[in-house]
Amino acid sequence: MRRDEIAAGPADVERRDEVERRDEIAAGLADVERRIAEACRAAGRDRGEVTLIAVTKTRPAEDVRILADLGVRDVGENRDQEAAPKAHELAALPLTWHFVGQLQTNKARSVAGYADVVHSVDRLRLAAALSKEAGRLGREIGCLVQVSLDDDPGRGGALPADVPALADEIAALGHVWLGGVMAVAPLGEDPGKAFARLREVAQAVQENHPRATMISAGMSDDLTEAVAHGATHVRIGTALLGRRKPFVR
Ligand SMILES: *Cc1c(COP(=O)(O)O)cnc(C)c1O
Repeated sequence: MRRDEIAAGPADVERRDEVERRDEIAAGLADVERRIAEACRAAGRDRGEVTLIAVTKTRPAEDVRILADLGVRDVGENRDQEAAPKAHELAALPLTWHFVGQLQTNKARSVAGYADVVHSVDRLRLAAALSKEAGRLGREIGCLVQVSLDDDPGRGGALPADVPALADEIAALGHVWLGGVMAVAPLGEDPGKAFARLREVAQAVQENHPRATMISAGMSDDLTEAVAHGATHVRIGTALLGRRKPFVR
């Protein structure tokens, strides 16, 4: 159907908005795909080494449906309150759900109900709670150790020196699997330098855990640097779906 063939009743207006949103998201996806492919080429890496995670926080379930229809298979959320209903509503879609936000241990039960991979594990207590709840549900959940690349404990993450021991402890739990590491680039530092440190931490973890190969790094503004420094998973919101409302991270 061509856009100018759509007449203007209320249902048609709604339909036109849907078509427009789909076009917007498809354009964002094409642009992000082009950037990832270019970053891989520049780094001498195969495009297949990098997984795009669409960060859908603050976005309606309908946006996630459109992404899935366009072929996206990995989505990320950062608040349980928002993610839980969305993930349960969309449970029939062929999606892998990544939880990327700071997580309180008392939310482990809810998150274990839908998350396939939790990127923000920075303490054993949280990993143990996720393992216990996953076991209760008969599930296995991936855990990435979030690494703090600055000295700001408010943003979450374990100190680089503490990561290998924490990784060992997580790997010993029964119902989670150790996937690798995750980080957010610090504000005010060249992201490439920060991601180079993350890669060193990832390599230290892999000495004991050779299958923990995931490096979750790179957002809309720094995905090129992340791919240059070995990211296997980039977490992209704004560049795919547009700007979020102010004050919502
Ligand atoms: C919001 C968020 C992203 C996506 O950020 P954009 O700049 O919108 O691409 C990635 N990772 C985490 C942990 C986030 O909270």
